[in-house]
Amino acid sequence: MTVADHLSRVHARIDAAARAASRAPGDVKLVAVSKTKPPEAIREAYAAGQRAFGENYAQELVAKAEALADLHDLEWHFIGHLQTNKAKFAARVAHVVHTVDTSVLANELGKRAARDRTAPLAVLIEVNIGREPQKAGASPSEIEEVIDAVRAQPWLSLRGLMTVPPAGDPGATRSVFETLALLRNLHGGPGVLPELSMGMSDDLEGAIAAGASYVRVGRAIFGDR
Ligand SMILES: *Cc1c(COP(=O)(O)O)cnc(C)c1O
Repeated sequence: MTVADHLSRVHARIDAAARAASRAPGDVKLVAVSKTKPPEAIREAYAAGQRAFGENYAQELVAKAEALADLHDLEWHFIGHLQTNKAKFAARVAHVVHTVDTSVLANELGKRAARDRTAPLAVLIEVNIGREPQKAGASPSEIEEVIDAVRAQPWLSLRGLMTVPPAGDPGATRSVFETLALLRNLHGGPGVLPELSMGMSDDLEGAIAAGASYVRVGRAIFGDR
């Protein structure tokens, strides 16, 4: 199967899950996660109509953005852990950063965005719902502080919340998604935080049922890494 075939299968899954949840399929946006895949794979997906691509590593994002600079309406989503000293790369190249998890990172991104951008940078706050100590993300009790830090930056635009459920526990995944939706409601609801970024190749249906507006799908589009 080609990348285009895989993409249409993923769209069919998204549409079916949205319908099952009485949501409009257009309310769920697909971010094609292209980490570790070559620029040619992204061109293939682009030719099939895909525009939003997700990358996890700052240098890889910059290299691919340069290699694909001729595709003007391509949209880059940064979805990996962002170290403060790499914030400048994401601030320059990304359209959306899904993984702001500390006030320090928000401050640095805001400063770099003010310097290097012509439009504000859309950001989501990553929440570590499983409270896994080794994992990135703000704990639920830290969300307020990070929201305030983002709001204090005129060149950042607060868009929503993002989470990555603990690996290897499919039974817990659904409750993690529902918890992210609950946390959104605790912090102002969809008017303040319109986007929920959750759901990957294996669990996008559950995420859509719980309210995902971005699903981040890699392997189901580009194959195993
Ligand atoms: C790699 C990755 C994905 C995509 O996962 P797949 O299982 O390949 O669909 C989504 N979100 C994040 C944060 C990732 O690192």
